[in-house]
Amino acid sequence: MQGLMMDYPLTLNAILGRAERIHGRKEVVSRRPDRSLHRTTYADIASRARKLAVALSALGVRTGDRVATLCWNQPEHLELYFGVPALGAVIHTLNPRLHAGELSYIVHHADDKVLVVDETLLPVFESFRATRTFAHVILIGHGGEMPDGMLSYAELVERADAEAFAPRVLDETDAAAMCYTSGTTGRPKGVVFSHRALVLHSLGSAVPDAFCLGESDVVLPVVPMFHANAWGIPFAAAMVGAKQVYPGPHLDGASLLELLAGERVTFTAGVPTIWIRLLQELDRAPGAHDLSRLQTLIVGGSAAPKSLIEAYERRHGLKIVHAWGMTEMSPLGTVARLPRHFADVPEDRQNAFRAKQGIPVPLVEIRAREAEGLVPWDGQTMGELEVRGPWVARAYYNSEEGDDRFTADGWFKTGDIVTIDALGCIEITDRAKDLIRSGGEWISSVALENALMAHPAVAEAAVIAVPDPQWQERPLAVVVLKPGQATTQEDLLASLAPHFPTWWLPDTVEFVEEIPKTSVGKFKKAALRERFNAPPAPVPGGLDAAS
Ligand code: ADP
Repeated sequence: MQGLMMDYPLTLNAILGRAERIHGRKEVVSRRPDRSLHRTTYADIASRARKLAVALSALGVRTGDRVATLCWNQPEHLELYFGVPALGAVIHTLNPRLHAGELSYIVHHADDKVLVVDETLLPVFESFRATRTFAHVILIGHGGEMPDGMLSYAELVERADAEAFAPRVLDETDAAAMCYTSGTTGRPKGVVFSHRALVLHSLGSAVPDAFCLGESDVVLPVVPMFHANAWGIPFAAAMVGAKQVYPGPHLDGASLLELLAGERVTFTAGVPTIWIRLLQELDRAPGAHDLSRLQTLIVGGSAAPKSLIEAYERRHGLKIVHAWGMTEMSPLGTVARLPRHFADVPEDRQNAFRAKQGIPVPLVEIRAREAEGLVPWDGQTMGELEVRGPWVARAYYNSEEGDDRFTADGWFKTGDIVTIDALGCIEITDRAKDLIRSGGEWISSVALENALMAHPAVAEAAVIAVPDPQWQERPLAVVVLKPGQATTQEDLLASLAPHFPTWWLPDTVEFVEEIPKTSVGKFKKAALRERFNAPPAPVPGGLDAAS
């Protein structure tokens, strides 16, 4: 017997339509390059997104064509997020922090037809311009001169006739957006998001035990719109009608604090390095900023040390919520919200739970595998995490590289090594390529890093494997001290000793000024391996491949 419900397509047009009709007056606020604040509304964004679709159509953009963007978190990017897919075309967000060679590879591989570039990012475009001809380059200007051969975004949108808009999405499984992985271990790989996946991801991420987003929220994604769709937050916030606040190019701690306080932000999200920097700013002038509205700081992208979570809570009364995901998952997978029965357990155990990566959000399934088969959910046995769900990739775009990440029975191999406990809560012990193998046993670099960052003098710590003739590999710690702080290798190792077996302790601690970061703000362990003469990481593929 068939269900008798409508076959209603899950498309981004439905999200934008609702934002316009129900929450049309809600604000989208952004900081411009000159630091001024720009205010618009969902009604305006929706109308301009339609006009953008009309203008792009007139320029020859057709169903399935890729429109690349080099933009910050700014309102035009939100217009592109909805306007390009409304046309049946695909928005391809480029990461401006990549090297020219990588950008050139990515725009060729994706076969981008049109590029929309913010004026502040023209130097990035110039860096690979000679290697790629686009049908059109459209500039989002801020008062500078219009370079030859480019079209003005503002004029295109202004002149287009909104009445001429005809949505061209044919099917909910049509592509809406694409994004390349950072390619730490091989070529960047293209992930193509369907309308359906993005709509379901918006619903799944907004639920109370995930991001818990509603109409009364004021949302500031620090995570860039070129990093896994800003974790889907712009779509989810539009769906529920939350006010959005965009920092534009100004991502320093002081600018963020001013926006968080001034716009009475309730929800924000970013990678740990952002919150580590912001904490230093908060500590410098405790109480100077009114963050009383701020209920949730989502931290993800790499492991959030327990000490960071505790520092925010104890020193500033702010709640960090740890989440895990990946570009291939649109990107949300798990969130560590404290289960109800944890309410009465001691604070230290609560915080230990909150420092884990969390429980899968609805519709995401998890399992972990080691050489002998699936691991038990005992919170101890490590295995490579596999996932499936309606917003998980089933293949990479036009690439055979990475095909081995998809299992014959329809799961995606994440390359992350985890334990899963009886509650279904995952704890990431490492990326497969970062695990340290010492004397046939595994050492978790994440666990050592978290413990080092709990030391009062340490700002940042990364642990890598270095070759060892006797043990095969041994851990080496790279540490950045907080300004004005001093400590020694002996002191740091003594602080680790009570928490780990002796053979886990790093043999060497290197003190450095800065840990190099990837284009999305994570520790660049590949660069550290090179600097400290460690072998390059093996290609990920689970415990098997790494051993
Ligand atoms: P990349 O890091 O390759 O640029 P993604 O942003 O998609 O690409 O990152 C996904 C990876 O980031 C995950 O596979 C995992 O290794 C890591 N990651 C994400 N969130 C967390 C977290 N909360 N804790 C630890 N690692 C995380």
